[in-house]
Amino acid sequence: MLEVLTDICAGNGKEGDIELLEEIGDMVAKASLCGLGTSAPNPVLTTIRYFRDEYEAHIRDKKCAAGVCKPLFYYEIDEEKCTGCTLCAKKCPEVAITGEKKKFHHLDQDKCIKCGICWIMCPDMAYSANEEEFYDWDERYCKGCGICVEECPKDAIEMREE
Ligand code: SF4
Ligand code: SF4
Repeated sequence: MLEVLTDICAGNGKEGDIELLEEIGDMVAKASLCGLGTSAPNPVLTTIRYFRDEYEAHIRDKKCAAGVCKPLFYYEIDEEKCTGCTLCAKKCPEVAITGEKKKFHHLDQDKCIKCGICWIMCPDMAYSANEEEFYDWDERYCKGCGICVEECPKDAIEMREE
């Protein structure tokens, strides 16, 4: 099951992989002699049951809508929105972004390790991944590190106590 999942996340998924995972998972659950074995395939079987469309998107469209499987998405800069503030270029750990002040910046996909820092830093929402725009942060992933508060050039973010 791990090999099939790894292939799917790497963009090498094939038609029939979902059914294969279901078949193996069912077999493992039925053939196991202990509770641990019978429940081991549950994370895969449950996610297939509730998020089958995401599995299909990974296999057929080679897309990861959540932006987690790095081989399946890339960041782009929108020429219309980039104001050339240079923030992304200054923060990129791989020096993958170039551009002059007040001019459209270019992102070199060959150097990019998809860390997402540029996307987080851009004050003009000029970044997109999977050709979709992101305007909000996801509270499931926020660790409360506070970098966005320190770096936001427009002081648009504040930390709140839980
Ligand atoms: S995702 Fe990370 S490595 Fe890629 S361009 Fe943005 S900051 Fe640089
Ligand atoms: S942070 Fe955004 S607006 Fe600033 S240079 Fe980069 S892409 Fe352009």
